[in-house]
Amino acid sequence: MNTLPKLIFELSREGKIGVGLNEADVPEEPAVDPELLRRELADFPQLSEVEIVRHYMALAKLNYSVDAGFYPLGSCTMKYNPKINEKLAAAEELQAHPYAPHDLVQGNLEILARLEEWLRELTGLAGFTLAPAAGAHGEFTGMLMVRKYLQEKGDPRRLVLIPDSAHGTNPASAHFAGYDVKEIASSAQGTIGLAELRPHLTPEVAALMMTNPNTLGIFESDIMAVADALHANGSLLYMDGANLNALLGVVRPGDLGVDVMHINLHKTFSTPHGGGGPGSGPVGVAAHLLPYLPVPRVRRQGDGFDVVFDDPRSIGRVKNFYGQFLVIVRALAYLMTLGRENVGRVAEDAVLNANYVRKRLEGLLDLPYKGPSLHEVVFSDSGLPVKTLDIAKRLLDYGIHPFTIYFPLIVHGAMMIEPTESESKETLDDFIAVMGTILREAREDPELLRQAPTRTPVRRLDETLAARKPVLRWRKGESL
Ligand SMILES: *Cc1c(COP(=O)(O)O)cnc(C)c1O
Repeated sequence: MNTLPKLIFELSREGKIGVGLNEADVPEEPAVDPELLRRELADFPQLSEVEIVRHYMALAKLNYSVDAGFYPLGSCTMKYNPKINEKLAAAEELQAHPYAPHDLVQGNLEILARLEEWLRELTGLAGFTLAPAAGAHGEFTGMLMVRKYLQEKGDPRRLVLIPDSAHGTNPASAHFAGYDVKEIASSAQGTIGLAELRPHLTPEVAALMMTNPNTLGIFESDIMAVADALHANGSLLYMDGANLNALLGVVRPGDLGVDVMHINLHKTFSTPHGGGGPGSGPVGVAAHLLPYLPVPRVRRQGDGFDVVFDDPRSIGRVKNFYGQFLVIVRALAYLMTLGRENVGRVAEDAVLNANYVRKRLEGLLDLPYKGPSLHEVVFSDSGLPVKTLDIAKRLLDYGIHPFTIYFPLIVHGAMMIEPTESESKETLDDFIAVMGTILREAREDPELLRQAPTRTPVRRLDETLAARKPVLRWRKGESL
């Protein structure tokens, strides 16, 4: 069992020293105003070097990561990211000042241009901006382009339709872009077809934002008919493509009638992104939206590359400089490692793995939406003697990061499992076996699950209190 490491403050003893510094051989020059200097020494812990090393090692071991174990967080694509990409992103040759003259950073500009070309080819869309710093930022950027397009057409509209199976960021982005949002209910199969769309399709509708595959992990099979109906109504189709790893190299959204979409480089194209960053959410558009793409834009010019900063019809800048350059480097490295012939295997393996987990757990858990799964599968806790939360907490005791829970909202006690393409059959078999054990425990001793986790350094938290009143500082004499 893991325990919390002893805090360095508790190990501190007067006079212990961890480092030896030489006497200064230069005159002392206070860098700050003497008025501002501390008059008394702070009560810093006094420790030996080995104690400090062990302290930080112990803290590091409390972290859970994709490098430490299986992490089937649905909708997040927490997959293994090849270390070669990290190495390339750290390459000294690529680090450049953002104001460097363009003739000195042609290689960096080429990286931007080449990723854009890859994305155009993979999505069938006419152009991309690599500027947005996350998926939600991409949604916002895309909706600003929709807005400007409709305004220039002299047909500004007020409403954006969003299915109840969409990702939660969609309504927020549409709202921030100035639209009213209307939720539309999915069919019993968990998708949006003409029957669901038609009653809402008024002249006020600027766009429909459709997550595809949706958050049930189901492909929106009526998307082409939906696109046609929207276009006939003068409305646009926004596709949330954060789940592109389910389609990569197999389906091109541009061929389905999508006008604008964002993709998440940090999910689909390998950047470690736990803990809130870094991300990158490029937005692709069909030809009619090209004039509105944000600046700056890199373009091929003869044998080299230059950058367009001014473009009167562009929506303008959405981010300083050129976007999250090192996430872009990782994405290009990932695509070049796979090569054109292997890109499609990302989707094939992601879908295969999700369906393997689905088949093996189908008999044990309720599956409310039975349409074919793509990259993730969503079970419900209906009929179980415990709640989804209890199962998630018990997974921690077995050293597995829980899947996404209670999302999407249309599934009771949702357990949203995304194994990703980078896990082996052996890892999935281990996970399935642990799930089997936990579900047996749930029947035999449900209280055990309600008390879980029992083997982790910290037991079950009051998550509301932890979020509202976080204790982020240790104070002498106070216990954690
Ligand atoms: C993750 C995700 C987003 C949001 O992306 P961020 O980079 O977290 O802003 C949007 N839609 C879907 C379907 C996602 O999975």
